[in-house]
Amino acid sequence: MTVTITDSHAHLTSVQMLPPLEEVLQRALQKGVTRIINICTDIPSLEQGLLLHEKYPWVHNTAATTPHDVVKEGEEFFPIVQRAAASGKLVAIGETGLDYFYEHSDRKVQQEFLRRYFALARNLKLPLIFHCRGAFQDLFAMADSAYRQAPAVLHCFTGTLEEAKGVLDRGWFLSISGIATFKKSELLREVIRYVPLDRLFVETDSPWLAPQSHRGKQNEPSFVVETLELVACLKGVAVHEAAQRLEENAERFFSFSKVN
Ligand SMILES: [Zn+2]
Repeated sequence: MTVTITDSHAHLTSVQMLPPLEEVLQRALQKGVTRIINICTDIPSLEQGLLLHEKYPWVHNTAATTPHDVVKEGEEFFPIVQRAAASGKLVAIGETGLDYFYEHSDRKVQQEFLRRYFALARNLKLPLIFHCRGAFQDLFAMADSAYRQAPAVLHCFTGTLEEAKGVLDRGWFLSISGIATFKKSELLREVIRYVPLDRLFVETDSPWLAPQSHRGKQNEPSFVVETLELVACLKGVAVHEAAQRLEENAERFFSFSKVN
């Protein structure tokens, strides 16, 4: 049985994604990956993403400056994200958040932009996609004051069980990447066993983080099926059942029908 699944996080229009993109998209469809959330992190990737959506309406876009780049590009990109979101061209705002592990941008500036994206998402009633590394305490504290009871997903979740519980307590989702398929990721697999199916997404984070059986290659949305199969196995359900449940989550979260 072929499954139907959404890759909830891919950077198809990043300069690092090697062409030909048409073939990548064909392989995705062949594997049942019938929707891709394309994460646009700067002006060129958003321009390309909007064109891609015109040609392939099943590729949906989100946009924000990543916490890494807010010092360099945050100010310039913000009004462009705002405009695209206000005209109904985005299904979410992100990825935004905090990264204290790499700390490529000053923490204060990361926090300032996170606050601005909280407000933007709230005003336009769009969900947020968070990138969070080594900063869950601050993310939770900031959201508790400025983004209460509002929808979000923690992309490429690799946190602890305690952090996963913090995500669930706030009504948010966890998105699982190919990292879960790596041999050393037993703790993450424990988290997946704990989190209910109706709070999970799967993603590739293409072109990075190819799952175990494709390690070393460029990652692409068709590989999300390997992560889906792992999630199904850990939850003790059939793959098509896991796919169906995760699809219901994605439909609800991204409201695909509302996009221009
Ligand atoms: Zn990403």
